[in-house]
Amino acid sequence: MTELLDSLTKGNRRALSRAITLIESTRPDHREQAVELLSQLPPRQALRIGMSGTPGVGKSTFIEAFGMMLTEQGHRVAVLAVDPSSARSGGSILGDKTRMELLSRNPMAFIRPTPSSAELGGVARRTRESIRLCEAAGYDVVLIETVGVGQSETLVAEMSDLFILLLAPAGGDELQGVKRGIMEMADLVLVNKADGDLLATARRTCADYAGALRLLRKRPQDPERFPKALTVSAATGEGLRKAWDEMQQLADWRRENGHFEATRSAQARHWFMAELRAGLLARLDQPEIKAELQQLGDAVAAGDMTPGLAAMRMLDHLNRGQGGSRE
Ligand code: GDP
Repeated sequence: MTELLDSLTKGNRRALSRAITLIESTRPDHREQAVELLSQLPPRQALRIGMSGTPGVGKSTFIEAFGMMLTEQGHRVAVLAVDPSSARSGGSILGDKTRMELLSRNPMAFIRPTPSSAELGGVARRTRESIRLCEAAGYDVVLIETVGVGQSETLVAEMSDLFILLLAPAGGDELQGVKRGIMEMADLVLVNKADGDLLATARRTCADYAGALRLLRKRPQDPERFPKALTVSAATGEGLRKAWDEMQQLADWRRENGHFEATRSAQARHWFMAELRAGLLARLDQPEIKAELQQLGDAVAAGDMTPGLAAMRMLDHLNRGQGGSRE
């Protein structure tokens, strides 16, 4: 463990991979080691950038080009993914195709595919903890990608400092296809594929989104001009530098005004509650508890007990199981 921590903090990529494998494990002894490891990490901080976009919008092309640009500037870049849908298809969004070929061979970058067969809660914990490991390993930009299935965008936003929405050039009707809640989370909307024949459409789409963003609630902690929409081309690299400038300006602004740390504190508190909730739910899965649940459930179903009373009995039972009672 000490050795793993030591290599990890020296930036060893093998150690980082091993540490992520450890936190992904559901074995109770591994979990204990993982919790121990995580509590010993040095307090290094990366800029955590969450990114969402539907399949085909150009996320991997963007991350490849953006990541390469950042490493050329001397940044160390880690890429993680939150993709609950891969559990269904059995593949992993970063692992199945030859995605991000250059970046995956770049010694300044680290790409970790989504583990298959994991449910959203598990993926969320694994990603959140992987972010910490990447930071400890000296990566100063962590990109967290999601395809936006179900709640995954919200989860990613809740573990990011900045949230970026990647969109494709489209007609006006598609504007409404983006859920309002997702627009509200976005700090920056990037309309990709602003090149060649698509350039004019991309510019129009960008103007439409800029208008839509102006109508949304402003975050009191942000400067006037945010959230904002920009055009980029992941294929040609056009606009990537500008997008990075904007991200840095917003992050700096939040840092200088105390919002950056405040958001991270609120996020930490949120994840503490999420862990606790998950832990409590896991207790309901123990065989002895399950039997009691079944009995009480049957009594409720038969009309012999009210749901409220049964729940109270169950909670008493859980408290006694902990060696303490409420009385
Ligand atoms: P993802 O599914 O969101 O990861 O999308 P990909 O990065 O795999 O890209 C989907 C398709 O869009 C591919 O055929 C890319 O070559 C193409 N593409 C991505 N970015 C651009 C761009 O900036 N301009 C153009 N013209 N095509 C792009």
